[in-house]
Amino acid sequence: MSKDILIIGAGISGSVLAERYAAQGKKVLMLEKRNHIGGNCYDYIDENGILISKYGAHLFHTNDEEVWEYVNRFSNWYKWEHKVLARVGNQLVPIPVNINTVNRIFNLNLTTKKEMKMWLDLNRIPFKNPKNGKETVLNKIGEKLYEKMFKYYTKKQWDKYPEELNAAVLDRIPVRLNKDDRYFTDKYQALPENGYTKIFEKMLSHKNIEIHLNTDYFDVRNTLPKFEKVFYTGPIDQFFDFKYSIKDKLEYRSIHFEFETLNKKYFQNNSVINYPGPEVNFTRIIEYKHFGNQISDKTTIVREYSTADGEPYYPVLNEKNLRLYKLYQQEAKKHPDIHFVGRLANYKYFNMDEAFKNALNLFYALQTQTLKTL
Ligand code: UDP
Repeated sequence: MSKDILIIGAGISGSVLAERYAAQGKKVLMLEKRNHIGGNCYDYIDENGILISKYGAHLFHTNDEEVWEYVNRFSNWYKWEHKVLARVGNQLVPIPVNINTVNRIFNLNLTTKKEMKMWLDLNRIPFKNPKNGKETVLNKIGEKLYEKMFKYYTKKQWDKYPEELNAAVLDRIPVRLNKDDRYFTDKYQALPENGYTKIFEKMLSHKNIEIHLNTDYFDVRNTLPKFEKVFYTGPIDQFFDFKYSIKDKLEYRSIHFEFETLNKKYFQNNSVINYPGPEVNFTRIIEYKHFGNQISDKTTIVREYSTADGEPYYPVLNEKNLRLYKLYQQEAKKHPDIHFVGRLANYKYFNMDEAFKNALNLFYALQTQTLKTL
């Protein structure tokens, strides 16, 4: 069967495009180098009967009505307002920093927004336009909390200190003047009833979609026929055989996940506990059974160690990498028939909803273009 659309990668971006084109009657061929669909959202029930994510916890949150409507087509979702605790010294404190964080760490008794603001004003180091991650954090919460909660976590996560990263990376974490200890404040915060993999199965179970797992595009690229459209969701530098990465390579961070089964009901009292100090090498411990309050006699925990090698997960946003990315982006523009989409191909630190949105936007933009040429 000849195909109209080639999609490389079965993560969020690839799956949205496959689903949309298939629904339009286009024949889609999807190549995925892993042995499963869903990209880094892939989850499964483990030997302890617990739904776990193979590549780290995925918390869906969005303010975007279109995205929310779209993801609801493929699953029921239950409300889940994610919370994170950070181990600072012997204490567990909420992150993002809020009144309780400051009270616990500094043994204070702040109660109102006004008092919190006064504390912040006394401690923060103002920067009008923070130039990097360090200035962003100092500007918000000052040196003491920076040292305790951000400096070493960032070094562990990126192998760079906050001053070596763009302001936007640490700007992801706000500071709260109240006691709101939710990680996100979006209108919709939810988890899919039966996990993310089921969503991808539903999106891709269309007669017009043919999926080849365990198939690395780079092994077969010379054998492929011509397609009407090609969507590539892998690392952009790899697509161009790393041609601009002679001196420096485009950096990505990966994560090494150390899974452990414990013969007890719970290991910790929250789904995610961050370890922002230098005393341990891992960044956080996830205990999956907390998500959706799952029941099991045992528990599965995962320690996350950030690494330079391994599957690329995160683009490393600093000036040097963005300059290099621009060269690849220019190169990509010379191939208007190939669309680069997603976290790795766009070298963007997308949240899940942004990945959905970006792929949907691309699909509708291309539709409009097609209609105009008719
Ligand atoms: N961060 C930190 N301490 C923390 C949590 C986050 O220093 O306890 C910094 C770190 O640089 C991290 C960034 O803030 O990479 C963004 O955090 P986020 O939780 O958004 O990262 P993700 O969940 O995407 O790994």
